[in-house]
Amino acid sequence: MKNSYSNIFTFNKKILKKTIKNLNNGKVIGLPTETVYGLGGNAYSKKSIQKIFKLKGRPKTNPLIIHYYNINYAKEDVVLNKYFKKLYKKFCPGPITFILKKKKNSKIHSYASAGLNTVGVRFPKHKVARSILKEIKFPLAMPSANRSTRVSPVSAEDVYDEFKEKINLILNGGKCKIGIESTVVDLINDPKILRPGIIDKSKIAKTLKLKINNSYDQKKNRSPGMMEKHYSPGIPVLINQNKHDGKSAFIYLGKKCRNKNFFSLSKNLDLDEAASNLYKIFRLIKKKGYRKIQIGKIPNKGSGIAINDRIRRASNS
Ligand code: AMP
Ligand code: MG
Repeated sequence: MKNSYSNIFTFNKKILKKTIKNLNNGKVIGLPTETVYGLGGNAYSKKSIQKIFKLKGRPKTNPLIIHYYNINYAKEDVVLNKYFKKLYKKFCPGPITFILKKKKNSKIHSYASAGLNTVGVRFPKHKVARSILKEIKFPLAMPSANRSTRVSPVSAEDVYDEFKEKINLILNGGKCKIGIESTVVDLINDPKILRPGIIDKSKIAKTLKLKINNSYDQKKNRSPGMMEKHYSPGIPVLINQNKHDGKSAFIYLGKKCRNKNFFSLSKNLDLDEAASNLYKIFRLIKKKGYRKIQIGKIPNKGSGIAINDRIRRASNS
């Protein structure tokens, strides 16, 4: 079934066939995952990878995450180590990306991994992504479906806002449940978190029975492409604010809403819910024509760590 946008489609068997045909032909499509919407293409195809980088305006030094149906599909391309196996068992399919060694005979195109000998792999949980990954004969290279440095999309309409008719297929899977990008964990040596997410450091440490370090707050260890300027709604963002300036949009946690300029991430102070609403509210505020966003203090625990990471980088724009 088609809706009012010419390139947004509700997922069904017929559209699955069309999707597979598009991907086999090297096309790039928009599709939902449980974290954010992705811009997916054949990870083994130079042509598809080049399209993704071009559409996004993404620097070639920023590697793409490679998405698989399950561990059996991934073992052809990457070396699976003991840490990976434990985390995979506990969290996959789900919102976590693992940095692993690329196998010598891996078919992943070197452009997708930005010439590195490591690969970021993920196993998304969303049923649309899984139905596709199960049927195709290659993994999907899939960054978030937004132009580089901008806010990630959490609905099919958001993807349309980013690329309009430049892609011919956007699959509608409703609003993303998680709403922020996956946790990225580097498993090449001692496990470390490169990008915080809903699966936080304490959950990973508990599963591996290890103390885990962060890399995202140490400039020298940051992963390639972990750009400081990112997640930008296109207007100035000020964080850790405690006083409304009277005219900007004010993002906060909790119930008390003084006037129409106030936008709550979660009325119940639930940090997972807050994370899932962040990008939706960024886009809403931009659409309403505000010139600036102020954000109150967000507790730096659990998913609050991931929220603070994203809003700090949004404020660097
Ligand atoms: P995005 O595609 O925008 O969700 O971002 C992907 C994230 O994964 C970026 O922060 C990349 O730097 C990181 N990433 C992907 N592949 C690798 C890799 N091989 N090594 C280190 N980081 C990676
Ligand atoms: Mg992204």
